[in-house]
Amino acid sequence: MATEADAAVQVVTGSPEATRAFAASLARVAEPGDLLCLWGDLGAGKTVFAKGFGAGLGVRDTILSPSFVLMGEYAGRLPLFHIDLYRLATATEAFDGGLLDDRQASGVVLIEWPDRLADEMPPDRLDVRIDGGGDEPRAIAVVAHGRAHQRYLAAARDGGAT
Ligand code: ADP
Ligand code: MG
Repeated sequence: MATEADAAVQVVTGSPEATRAFAASLARVAEPGDLLCLWGDLGAGKTVFAKGFGAGLGVRDTILSPSFVLMGEYAGRLPLFHIDLYRLATATEAFDGGLLDDRQASGVVLIEWPDRLADEMPPDRLDVRIDGGGDEPRAIAVVAHGRAHQRYLAAARDGGAT
């Protein structure tokens, strides 16, 4: 049986490039229907992580911060849906606004500011929590909730950081 320790992997990245490379290594194991919630303060590196993850999925377009568009959609090995809930007050707004829909089951969803989902937080997901700011190294904790997302933990151990 998995213990708490088995369900989490922690790495430290010393640069934005290292965060991107780590995220790209996780994307290798991505499957349709995956959900990654990206936690961390403003400037922690959530969008940097999303850019690296997209690169790992083979997305060629430039991934922009979705702060103003709410959702960016990109074509890669799998479709990538990059959502930013920062400007929303509640999950209801996200659902009513059509931000979360069935189409996303065909690809991978990355959500910045997932705390907005509160009680609507999907139980099956990968939490990626980024701590640190400015030029500091970032501590990145990867926690799998539900069986499907466990496969990211092995990738996180292998792709661990510099
Ligand atoms: P968020 O989306 O969490 O608000 P961003 O990804 O937009 O944050 O910005 C993170 C900023 O921190 C970028 O300017 C990036 O260059 C910088 N940074 C410095 N060190 C790191 C690191 N180790 N990992 C990620 N970003 C870093
Ligand atoms: Mg961001």
